[in-house]
Amino acid sequence: MRILLIEDEPLIAQAIKTFLERYEFRIDWVASGELASEALASNPFDLVILDLGLPDKDGFDVLHDLRDENFELPVLILTAREATKNKIEGFSLGADDYLTKPFDMEELMARCRALIRRSHGRSKTILRHQGLELNLDQQSLTYKGEPVKLQQLAFRLLTILMERKGRVISKSDLMELLYGWDENAESNVLEVYVSQIRRKTYPSLIRTIRGIGYIIDEPETKPVS
Ligand code: CA
Repeated sequence: MRILLIEDEPLIAQAIKTFLERYEFRIDWVASGELASEALASNPFDLVILDLGLPDKDGFDVLHDLRDENFELPVLILTAREATKNKIEGFSLGADDYLTKPFDMEELMARCRALIRRSHGRSKTILRHQGLELNLDQQSLTYKGEPVKLQQLAFRLLTILMERKGRVISKSDLMELLYGWDENAESNVLEVYVSQIRRKTYPSLIRTIRGIGYIIDEPETKPVS
């Protein structure tokens, strides 16, 4: 799950990045409103964490511009401003959640998970597909009741595809969702993880769309007779 973190305070940003990246999140960090707009215009994200006090723009302006372009991307506002007035303004501009500094990292993570889950149209922490059960809270996977061990990035790749079941995800989007900006991964890494997942579950789970990307197909519905 890829998060854009908009925060001008390096210590806070680094702490959030370090903490969340121990789990299923990839964090891309920008320190200004201008860079945030550029990032949002050209990259797929699952969530935005937005600090209100930015050096070049008010966070509310960033939120306003974002909502002009994208109604669905969840936004969590992170700020030292405690006034209720600010919260109301944030929600009226389309923020989905609000956390006041100082905050607890575990709480931030729980809220990030809940927001992303809600935006993907789910209320459960377990994704199911054809005998597979992927538990997001426990970061565990079973197939036909038997535990399946995957490498961390393979697990993340499977999560991305299961959350977007029925949609083809391009290789470049997958690479960005897996790695963000700051790692140079080998171009064949997706093939390696996909084949690991197929080997440990079943071969037809992930379908390759040649030259484009990958998809987990929705199960076929039985015709009604
Ligand atoms: Ca700030």
